[in-house]
Amino acid sequence: MTEPTVSPPPARDLCGTMLVHRRMLNESMSYRSQRAVIENRALQYEIGRLSSARRGPVVIPVVVHVVAGRDHPEQNIDDEQVHSQITVLNQDFRAANPDVSKVPDVWRDLVADTQIEFRLATRDPNGEPTDGIVRVVTDRPGFDHRDGVKSSRTGGADPWPSDRYLNMWVCQLAGSLLGYATFPGQPPHLDGVVIGHSFFGTTGTAAAPGNPFNRGRTTTHEIGHWLNLFHIWGDDDGACSSDDKVADTPNQADANTGMPTFPHVTCANGPNGDMFMNYMDYTDDAGMFMFTQGQLARMNACLEGARASFLAAMPEAEAEAVRADGSRHADAGEARGVPDGEVERLLHDSERLTTEALHDIRAALNTVAGYSRW
Ligand SMILES: [Zn+2]
Repeated sequence: MTEPTVSPPPARDLCGTMLVHRRMLNESMSYRSQRAVIENRALQYEIGRLSSARRGPVVIPVVVHVVAGRDHPEQNIDDEQVHSQITVLNQDFRAANPDVSKVPDVWRDLVADTQIEFRLATRDPNGEPTDGIVRVVTDRPGFDHRDGVKSSRTGGADPWPSDRYLNMWVCQLAGSLLGYATFPGQPPHLDGVVIGHSFFGTTGTAAAPGNPFNRGRTTTHEIGHWLNLFHIWGDDDGACSSDDKVADTPNQADANTGMPTFPHVTCANGPNGDMFMNYMDYTDDAGMFMFTQGQLARMNACLEGARASFLAAMPEAEAEAVRADGSRHADAGEARGVPDGEVERLLHDSERLTTEALHDIRAALNTVAGYSRW
């Protein structure tokens, strides 16, 4: 069946996350093992064997490394543009974005308030006060998906500890690349998201006329990957054979670009078709405005597993604010917030699952190597 197509930009290059993921799978046995553990845990949440114990928002401290070319002052985006991105994230991840009202009725019940918030760091790794923005001048004309921006040795900026901060690098990116992220499981010194400065936030260079990626959604999308979400079409080049491992997002053929009209049916997913307004598709920024409950389950599996340090590390003041905020969101008087001992329980749970998964991996490897009797 021939689908009507919008004349697309080179969609393959908009997000570099899968490129990096596949490269790492090829190069690193450790990454392959970690990914198996992480996906095992995600599956437990997906099938309901585990569910999130989180009862209030988690706050992720963010450091933004602005890496600007020496002769390109426009790349040195101002504080306002950085702040505009943080605002977008806190709207999008809390389903407080004004355009969430555009979600088609058939999917309205699936919209997720992820209870994940982002704040520029107020303390640097040494405990000193900071505004959470690091500025570096580089001689390099730009960067690509090969991580040069993540090290001062290659003209970029060194990361802050990735178990305590979400590192975001903002720079000039080559070609049509808007950004890329690391899935959980990558080495700590590479962990984080990289965004082209013109696609970061909503003001300054992002506000250039005609820019369809002007609402900060590239960063929302990339942090989705950082929290272990796959592209909604399953990265199978239109084959309908693979999906995003999330049950409540319809199987769809390939990326949607531009501003599709509802419904757009592929992979026999009618009558409602593709959920192209999901942040994990490739539409223009104005065309994406939701995460689903199924995607939230994967994010929770990640936050209570590979990224549990962010739950454990919430400063007391932040935790207190979250508890206070949680009480306003309480359902039927249920007390929100992270109860004493809950984080320890989550970490213990994570450790147990890791052991189980490693056992599974060893068993599988033994089978492949012919050592197994089965
Ligand atoms: Zn992506």
